[in-house]
Amino acid sequence: MKTDIHPNYTNTTFSCACGAEFTAGSTLGKDEFKTEICSQCHPFYTGKQKLIDSSGQVEKFRAKMEKAKAAKSTKTEEMNAEEMPAEEAPAEEKAAE
Ligand SMILES: [Zn+2]
Repeated sequence: MKTDIHPNYTNTTFSCACGAEFTAGSTLGKDEFKTEICSQCHPFYTGKQKLIDSSGQVEKFRAKMEKAKAAKSTKTEEMNAEEMPAEEAPAEEKAAE
């Protein structure tokens, strides 16, 4: 075995945001490592849906969608008002047939 090329393999305590803690061997060189998700709380293992949204991205997206919806509804109202005379044209075509 060559010397000085192998990383130091030690026991590290992994602590999750959900409160779970477990020890595993790692080459991180730290005694403790914090993680946001683990097998105790990941939806794949728990079978429950959970939003993993640490930076508020979902809230941002919802706000954006609300804004877009509001803008669209005012736009359609305007468009409907403009379309009123245009709707008469196809009716005339039908009458000609
Ligand atoms: Zn966890």
